[in-house]
Amino acid sequence: MTISLYNTLTRSLEEFVPLHEGRVAMYSCGPTVYNYAHIGNMRAFLFSDLLHRVLRVVGAYDVRWVMNITDIDDKTIRDSSKGASTWRTEMGAQSEDAVENLRRFTEFYADEFLQDIATLGIKRENFYKVPYATHYMASMQHLIRRIGEKGIAYERGGSVYFNVAEWRKIDTYGKLFKIDAENFQEGVRIDADEYDRESVSDFVLWKAQKDGEPAWDFEFEGKNLSGRPGWHIECSAMEQDILGLPFDIHTGGVDLCFPHHEDEIAQSKAGYGVEPTRYWVHNEFLEVEGQKMSKSLGNFYTVRDLLQKGIDALDIRWLMLSAQYSSRLNFTFAGLEAGRKARLRVQDYIFGLWEKAGAQIHSTRTETTNTLRSAVFSELANNLNTPKAFAELFTFMNRNAASAFDAAEASSLLGFFQELNNIFDVWKFEARPGETLQIPDAVKALAEERWKARTMKNFAESDRLRGELAAHGFTVKDSKDGYTLEKA
Ligand code: AMP
Ligand code: ZN
Repeated sequence: MTISLYNTLTRSLEEFVPLHEGRVAMYSCGPTVYNYAHIGNMRAFLFSDLLHRVLRVVGAYDVRWVMNITDIDDKTIRDSSKGASTWRTEMGAQSEDAVENLRRFTEFYADEFLQDIATLGIKRENFYKVPYATHYMASMQHLIRRIGEKGIAYERGGSVYFNVAEWRKIDTYGKLFKIDAENFQEGVRIDADEYDRESVSDFVLWKAQKDGEPAWDFEFEGKNLSGRPGWHIECSAMEQDILGLPFDIHTGGVDLCFPHHEDEIAQSKAGYGVEPTRYWVHNEFLEVEGQKMSKSLGNFYTVRDLLQKGIDALDIRWLMLSAQYSSRLNFTFAGLEAGRKARLRVQDYIFGLWEKAGAQIHSTRTETTNTLRSAVFSELANNLNTPKAFAELFTFMNRNAASAFDAAEASSLLGFFQELNNIFDVWKFEARPGETLQIPDAVKALAEERWKARTMKNFAESDRLRGELAAHGFTVKDSKDGYTLEKA
């Protein structure tokens, strides 16, 4: 099925066409590992997880998904520095070596992060690679040198900057986010990793070492500039190294459009001669009372906070996935609870189908399954419209009681629900818990009689008794050493 996505670059809904038939390479900006990620961040990763699963299941693509770990930036350096209050006993004693402190500090939070996303159903095996920025130092330096060779980077005070004025003579700066030319301040340099649109100026590619900060040697235009990379160059270098440019899809939260993604485009095009990707897909914010959930506002919950409150991780996943990624989502506990009810309603339907299907799941599709599947999948293919996809699902469930299907139909529907679960990953395929089959004594006696007839090779009698069992609403399944009874 063809998939459409809202592309920030063209500001339109576009039909997705991969660069290589049947394959998709996708890069997501990962977490900055300086603390526990909050569930606002998780919305970004759950969106990317959803997208990659829809591409796989609905689009039938072979997907390579890469998400980086930002282990070096202003915040990881600040919080891993000697004497930082964020230092935890689990990281061991602090070292005299700033690089070593950074490594221990970020490894701790990266591990915690990978555990948190696994709790939310984003499994390690879903990724092609999860690269750590500090492991790509040589590639970043190589890219900075290339930009320098093109005359678009210059050194000042031991740092290297991207020359936006020079670049604007060659190409547009402001492709993802229209930037007012009046805001552009020629010759002004910005060292911070994050800055706003009002201060468009030359951004940093390599930062000179400050006292006590971790640093790497860097040979640039005949000088050794001891320092560390800027945030934007990290993603550009990892993308090229792991996926090669161009690749198919780049994701991230809307706040990354500017400056992070804009700068990625400029750097990659300047250094490698190619833009990273054709499809830029951004998720909207998770909000709390109309404001972005963020660490700086202090209005956030981590996954652990919610689990401690007794919230089921599946409900967090479901809540995030059941809103369309491109609209803002207001986080409330009432919303979580309402989502839980909807999730369990589907689960109950699956239990009902399971019972009717006698635990048989079939991938062959009946007409009913085909109609439901194409209704649900075409909504998912339409810019991941999960609310509409679920509306289709619930309309179907409301119109058709699970108990109304025969075994073949129920087995086929179960096949579809399992396919859907390869995307949502929030349901179980098993008998309703606590439900033990009530078998009347008369049925038990018939079954025993049939088994005896069968062991004595009296197949005519055995078949007659099978018919009687069916008349009582039971089927019998034989194995080498016995039989089991199931509801027909
Ligand atoms: P960071 O660790 O700050 O680099 O952020 C990781 C990802 O989370 C980025 O893609 C951000 O855009 C995204 N993000 C941060 N806050 C929110 C939020 N409240 N809602 C949705 N995405 C967010
Ligand atoms: Zn990035």
